[in-house]
Amino acid sequence: MGKALIVVDLQFDFLPPNGSLAVPTGDQIVSPIAELIKDERWSVVIATQDWHPKDHVSFAANHNLPDFSEFEYTSPAKPYGTQKATLWPVHCVQGTQGAELAPEMATAFEKLECDHHVVQKGFLADREYYSAFNDIWNDHHTQLDAMLQKHGINDVFVVGLALDYCVKSTAISAANLGYRTTILQNYTRPIASDHKAMCNLRQELIQNDVTLK
Ligand SMILES: [Zn+2]
Repeated sequence: MGKALIVVDLQFDFLPPNGSLAVPTGDQIVSPIAELIKDERWSVVIATQDWHPKDHVSFAANHNLPDFSEFEYTSPAKPYGTQKATLWPVHCVQGTQGAELAPEMATAFEKLECDHHVVQKGFLADREYYSAFNDIWNDHHTQLDAMLQKHGINDVFVVGLALDYCVKSTAISAANLGYRTTILQNYTRPIASDHKAMCNLRQELIQNDVTLK
């Protein structure tokens, strides 16, 4: 009956004041998460890391388009579907400071006595990732599911950034894979926090058996 905590993308580029894709007030959750990871209930703590090559398909600059443009991706794998998505400012490039975990989190994480692992995503240039389990085509899979299985995990708790993108998608993947899944609301922040966006988000989580509390 193991419980896992997944800390999604707590990296410089997603944090105010200097991140290139900073999530509003995201810096407020760093200290609370650095404490939360020490809780004795976790069998394993996973930190995910967005980890892009410079030529990543999700960067607006690589399409000569303005940041936050709408774009239609074509699947690099069969079946050759399309998906509409947002193009981002350059962020979390491999080996840059922007891709590093927030220092307070990194320090607490390294000192953990329980099992802890970093899972990287977004390292294939030709595809976008939100979920830490798989790309948006559910074609390439990270080692996260195998890692949770190895630790005998039944319950997954998800925190980090951003609630309406990578936290949401990671939680939905976990629920679809059969884990009992909860997003801890005090330990995450959305990019869009208006009423309508939050209503839609709550509904999508309920429909996918993800608890938000
Ligand atoms: Zn990214």
